[in-house]
Amino acid sequence: MIESARFEIVLGVTSLILALWAVSYNLMLGYAGMVSFAHAAYYGVGAYTVAILLQRYQISYFAALAAAPLVAATVGIITGFVALRAVRLYFSLLTLAISQLLYSVAEGWYSVTGGDNGINGIVTPDQLTDYPTLYYFVAAIVGVSLLLMFVLTRSPFGAALLAIRENRERARSVGINVKAYELAVYTIAALFAGVAGALFPLVQPSVVPGMLFWTENATPVVVTLLGGVGSFLGPGFGAFIFTGLNNSLSRDFPYQLDVLLGAIVLGVVLLVPGGFASVPGLVAQLRRRVVGEETPSIEAETKGEAIRMIDVARAVEAHAIQSEHIERGKVLLKLEGLSRSFGGLRAVDSVNLEIHEGDRHAIIGPNGAGKSTLFNLITGRMRPSAGRVWFDGRDITGRPAHVVAKAGIGRAFQITMIFPRLTVRQNLQYAMLAHRGRTVQPWGLADRIYRDEAIELLDAVGLGPHADLPAGQLSHGDQRAIELAISLALGSRMILLDEPTAGMSASETRHAMELVRRVATDRNLTLLFCEHDMSVVFGTARTVTVMHQGRILMQGTPEQIRSNPEVQAVYLGELDMDEEEAAPA
Ligand code: ADP
Ligand code: MG
Repeated sequence: MIESARFEIVLGVTSLILALWAVSYNLMLGYAGMVSFAHAAYYGVGAYTVAILLQRYQISYFAALAAAPLVAATVGIITGFVALRAVRLYFSLLTLAISQLLYSVAEGWYSVTGGDNGINGIVTPDQLTDYPTLYYFVAAIVGVSLLLMFVLTRSPFGAALLAIRENRERARSVGINVKAYELAVYTIAALFAGVAGALFPLVQPSVVPGMLFWTENATPVVVTLLGGVGSFLGPGFGAFIFTGLNNSLSRDFPYQLDVLLGAIVLGVVLLVPGGFASVPGLVAQLRRRVVGEETPSIEAETKGEAIRMIDVARAVEAHAIQSEHIERGKVLLKLEGLSRSFGGLRAVDSVNLEIHEGDRHAIIGPNGAGKSTLFNLITGRMRPSAGRVWFDGRDITGRPAHVVAKAGIGRAFQITMIFPRLTVRQNLQYAMLAHRGRTVQPWGLADRIYRDEAIELLDAVGLGPHADLPAGQLSHGDQRAIELAISLALGSRMILLDEPTAGMSASETRHAMELVRRVATDRNLTLLFCEHDMSVVFGTARTVTVMHQGRILMQGTPEQIRSNPEVQAVYLGELDMDEEEAAPA
């Protein structure tokens, strides 16, 4: 075979291996929003595994190829467990440290890795010495790996990753064990990096510790950004472009290679933030502009009409409560001496409280009274300093948020929390998948599961027309309705609403609370909410608790609270008589 054809094949094989490595990296970056700087280490572990098994133990290449991903995944799960003790930036820094640690091991462990000499003279197995065969073999392995990863990204498991990327807090509150999923995807990414690394000795006869050096972690990052994080195959395209550039530049500008590559990557990231994979879309957009066609614009903002079109009867019908007959009035949530301090500040101070099943219980109190903190203690977002939380007879004190969510407590946050870049329908579907324990499944199409149920529920709360819009594009009021719909979709028995109408217009407020009241009544939901707007409080609550400086001041019916002189002195001073109109509906 002529030399240049061989060279082309080596280039092609190199690109394929890099594509596999980068796509596996994007499982973390693009799908779960995790920035790891240790991916070169797992690639290196894969390459070393093959080299060691081949050279020292005379094991066949194909057996070594099967072992490499397992070794990489094992190293991945152990190191990932350490790295995931921290989040975001600190997670990234820990991965960098881990990468450097593994490099030191590779460099220092002479008896196994050959130390700084590495392992040289790795021979290609006889079956693969023919270049076209080599190419097809690598293409097949890479193809199967990509297919497996693709299936994973579309599966309920992939849905959980997207939910985490979009909003960790929200993901937790629908029952996703965020850390466990992050560790799982980290390990899976390491596994496929191990496959890529195991293919590497087919094009390079030596494996050296430099492969694990910390600067090597730039390669999957750069390739992924070049190709685009937003699409599954984007990083794969990035790999071919990167290899091509690298090759032609190193021929023509051997000394300026790094500078030129860096400049090109910088240019792409700045000019086409979506990477090369987004170019076809951009071209289509440009063509439309030149030809003068109108860009098909999505409604930028919905107008909160959903809330005005509520058809609660259908909502309830669509999602009829299946639980056994509930005896009204037993204690569903019980707080005993619940406390939380921040430094010297007692934000919540020995709170005893009983919430009865089916009740609509409001907590009022001035800013800083400790209402949000109390909610955070109940839902597991914060751990109490002292005291206990009982839900339906079960001690849930200090349990993590996803466990509390599964136990049956749904919540809306003071700041609206949804999955902004997922569609309205996916918001509901993924919440249901998570809550019903389906997100452990790494196959099947997540978007098909519970689809009808989600659409029915959305129709019922008036969000039907927006089912396929990204949730982040909806108006504030409609986003609140999504949160409520998520709680309904989860079948929560109790819903906590932290200032549900904050930021809403007067009519949005009225309609939102109408929705909340009727859904709560019809489904026998227990409501616990805090609210500044007194008309909302007195129009909705059956029981009112007043909090002040972390303590409970008093509790009673809305009438009792309204007429209590002590309460008025502390808090309701400004409450004048025209609130009278907002008497319970
Ligand atoms: P509310 O929701 O009733 O307005 P919060 O529960 O948000 O009150 O706050 C109660 C008190 O605790 C406030 O003084 C607030 O500054 C303090 N606080 C709340 N969260 C934290 C925190 N994470 N760290 C320190 N102080 C906090
Ligand atoms: Mg608050």
